[in-house]
Amino acid sequence: MDIIRVAIPVPLRQVFDYLPAAGTHAHQYRRGQRVLAPFGRRQLTGIVIGQSDTADVAASALKPLLGILDDASLIPDDILNLAEWSARYYHAPLGEVLSAAFPIALRQGSAPRDDGQPALTLTDAGRATSPDALRRAPRQAALIRELQAADTPLLLDALRAAGYTTTVIRAIKERGLADTCVAQMPTLHFGEPEAPLHLNDAQQAAVNAIDPHAGQYRCFLLEGITGSGKTEVYLQTIATVLARHQQALVLVPEIGLTPQTLERFQRRFGDAVACYHSGLSEREREQTWLNAASGKARVVIGTRSAIFMPLPDIGIVVVDEEHDAAFKQQDGFRYNARDIAIKRAFDKGIPVILGSATPSTESLSRALDGHYRHLLLPERAGLAAPPNWQLIDMRKQAPQEGLSTALIEAVRHTLQQGRQALVFINRRGYAPTLCCLDCGWQAQCPHCSVRMTLHNRPTGLHCHHCGHQNARPSHCPSCQGVQLAAVGAGTQRSEEALKQLFPEFPVLRIDRDSTRNPQTLTKTLARIHAGEPCILVGTQMLAKGHHFPNVTLVGVLDADQGLFSADFRSAERMGQLLMQVAGRAGRGQQAGSVLIQTHLPEHPWLTLLTQRGYRPFIESILHERRSTYLPPFGHFALLRAESENAAAAERALRKARQACTVQNAQLIGPLPAPMERRAGRYRFQLLIHSRDRAPLHRALDQLMPAMDAVSRSPRIRWGVDVDPLDTF
Ligand code: ADP
Ligand code: ZN
Ligand code: ZN
Repeated sequence: MDIIRVAIPVPLRQVFDYLPAAGTHAHQYRRGQRVLAPFGRRQLTGIVIGQSDTADVAASALKPLLGILDDASLIPDDILNLAEWSARYYHAPLGEVLSAAFPIALRQGSAPRDDGQPALTLTDAGRATSPDALRRAPRQAALIRELQAADTPLLLDALRAAGYTTTVIRAIKERGLADTCVAQMPTLHFGEPEAPLHLNDAQQAAVNAIDPHAGQYRCFLLEGITGSGKTEVYLQTIATVLARHQQALVLVPEIGLTPQTLERFQRRFGDAVACYHSGLSEREREQTWLNAASGKARVVIGTRSAIFMPLPDIGIVVVDEEHDAAFKQQDGFRYNARDIAIKRAFDKGIPVILGSATPSTESLSRALDGHYRHLLLPERAGLAAPPNWQLIDMRKQAPQEGLSTALIEAVRHTLQQGRQALVFINRRGYAPTLCCLDCGWQAQCPHCSVRMTLHNRPTGLHCHHCGHQNARPSHCPSCQGVQLAAVGAGTQRSEEALKQLFPEFPVLRIDRDSTRNPQTLTKTLARIHAGEPCILVGTQMLAKGHHFPNVTLVGVLDADQGLFSADFRSAERMGQLLMQVAGRAGRGQQAGSVLIQTHLPEHPWLTLLTQRGYRPFIESILHERRSTYLPPFGHFALLRAESENAAAAERALRKARQACTVQNAQLIGPLPAPMERRAGRYRFQLLIHSRDRAPLHRALDQLMPAMDAVSRSPRIRWGVDVDPLDTF
């Protein structure tokens, strides 16, 4: 009997057996080909995984496929192997892994449309227009200038990467100055490719060590502070890969926030570069995917899902900011793209570079024990000295709106010198809590077990977890009192306070609320780059990737959250974030200062970090984790279950737990999740811990079928998270 095994994009951990479609033979089916499969009452696009003589179901229950969608395999074998490995490792349905692995258009079964890329071209009117006529719309003028200089269509992809927003592009189309077209050949045009820089000794040593020509797997941890020249090492290593007619894959945490990195790759490699991220249209994603698969794109820069990009000649993988939590998918198929990158390089026998100023405990411990080759870039490639750290003891301060006198004076001094100051606060909104001073009532989200954040302009209470919004009450709903106070500070409150303290200087706020419109972000960034003295207030959006040469002071409003939290990773995260924010100071010629407000100035981790640096800090964390078998010296998986009925969710996990007989795996729970209720659903979790990975996976092999059985009725949503980032 000829049975075709097919992965179907449904949340079931199995592949499905079919008979060949009418009029076809089993030998026409190739691994990686798409087929149309009947599934219940639906027709779904599946991927052929293989063939078999025997079926998992009775022969009478087998249905024939409805047709073959591709002449040849669409998904190359190495990607299919990687997907199968990922499905096993993360205990995820193969169909869902494959859905993450290729663009929606192809998932839906349409024929690949490899007919060029969407581009922007000047109309006759656009060619005749002087950019100066658009003086009041400088971005549009710049775009017209760019198009006129290029004298050929420019890819939308590249334009967006160069900072032209969809709004700007739409505006010049509406003026009749340009039109979208399809460019047959990639026609990026950003001048002559930029020449490589002359490497310093440490950079040269790194490039020599990585040597992609050795033709073998090797994982490198490239550690160097922001500005030490890591990107230049990637660029020059990739140049040698390209010279050998191989391709490169570069993973970055987020493209939207760091267009500079992408621009640098494009300046260096021109039209060989393609990008892949959620900011692109589905059509563009499909085109990048096809260009990568056909070999037209030589360098692909993408966010986490790009790890499954087909690259027939892949010669190197780079994971920039490897410690960043953005590489971890946080719902559905919960994978870590950094870890799959290492597996991909291993399978291919090629080098992989993990780059970071603040390596994760996972990567650092593997570098220290010799599994990874550790490469260090000790000094800044530019000129500025590393920043000076200072802890401000908030127990001895009478802060105004959360700002200590010491910080206010430092900001004043910085502005008077004609420099810029950055105030970092990891909370958007006005204040994290609205509280009744008479009875202690606090504004709570009706659907989640969290307090609601107070926002102003427009005023209201927002839940940052489910999006619920309420009006700000005029009196306490509990005691009718009228003394309602905003407690704690968010970015809006700090912005307001700084505006009052420094009315003669601009205060620019950068957080998710102030940058919903990408144009505003571009404008704000341009103002900062212009260099005028000003104060920036923002969340970690400000901490990532930006180069602000005139910022010489960084103030951190509250570093204590990371020291109080129950999650064992919170200190590591705090350290990475503080280093990253500190990295914004003094990137030009000036050394910078970093002022940290804390109630725990003697906390050993804080003093280690600020007095001796990231490495002693993270080594001390590693030391502690080793003695308690916490990752990376032990391993976790989490089963999460949620339901509107709290008891049902908890009971399901408890029953599943009974199915597990694995020795050497410790089960903890079920316990309420850190946020017990979210969007109206109660959430519980069962934590599985073991020193070695094998028992962890064996435990999951028993727990997951048990969960399948107990969660069917009543309906419970559940999922598994292997190597979770949020544990407690
Ligand atoms: P990182 O990726 O570690 O933040 P970059 O590679 O972006 O560092 O380098 C920081 C700055 O220093 C950039 O402006 C870059 O152009 C410059 N730079 C990097 N390497 C060199 C070098 N060898 N000589 C001169 N300037 C360099
Ligand atoms: Zn009250
Ligand atoms: Zn909520």
